[in-house]
Amino acid sequence: MVNAMLHIENLSVNYGTREALRAISLEINPGEIVALIGPNGAGKSTLIRAASGVLKPRLGRVLCAGEDITRLPNHLRARRLAVVPQARQEGGAFTVAQTVMLGRTAYLGWMGKPGESDERSVANALKMTSLTEFAERRVAELSGGEQQRVLVARALAQATRIMLLDEPTSHLDLQHQAGLLKLIRTLSKDYELAVLMALHDLNLVSLFADRVALLVDGELTHLGTPEEVLTEEIIQRAYHATLSVTRHLETGRPLVVLHV
Ligand code: ADP
Ligand code: MG
Repeated sequence: MVNAMLHIENLSVNYGTREALRAISLEINPGEIVALIGPNGAGKSTLIRAASGVLKPRLGRVLCAGEDITRLPNHLRARRLAVVPQARQEGGAFTVAQTVMLGRTAYLGWMGKPGESDERSVANALKMTSLTEFAERRVAELSGGEQQRVLVARALAQATRIMLLDEPTSHLDLQHQAGLLKLIRTLSKDYELAVLMALHDLNLVSLFADRVALLVDGELTHLGTPEEVLTEEIIQRAYHATLSVTRHLETGRPLVVLHV
């Protein structure tokens, strides 16, 4: 049996007395992309924060390659797992290269001075995200989509085996959405990355996810391949929307078409 890279076990999370996640169990294998879907407020960001170890669960645990994430010190956690948070306006005077170098923090020596391998890693992450020419620009002066790619580059520089992404395509135009998801797929296959990614666009989910996890009101109601989860019955009920599911002309994957 393949050992799961990311193992989420019976996870329950509360905000105060309100239950935001109830008994979520999910395993992600090396080289696998799991898309996290569900209506607004279903708990996708909460699950990503709890899986990353920054939000303490009320019950359950999260194992990264067998290690309990909540028990790891920050610098070791940052070597195991990288997070691309839901995009917000990145402030500050940092340049793109400096921001991506923050992804190397967990590897820097006692003096915190980047070495040659850190510089190489940053240059590589900038290249992969098509940001090389932006290296010396200030992040605060970039567009939302460019900032989103900076966050992905920072996560890449962490060189982890697990990547968690919260709606990484939300500020990107069509070309960059496809570009980013292709990059994530390539990385996932080439480096055997385990990827958990909250995504809004169900048709991108259909094209890029190996499996789909559907959250509704804090519960994982369905988990399976895009063919299994992206059905009219399941999606209509979860999203309270009227829609049809047909087939993508080239790939044969499910294509979700909203009725208006
Ligand atoms: P999603 O990402 O699927 O839209 P979230 O995980 O952000 O959903 O939110 C799930 C639920 O938890 C929502 O009802 C939201 O209002 C609530 N929630 C999210 N963050 C907090 C917080 N920091 N404190 C209290 N409630 C929160
Ligand atoms: Mg969210």
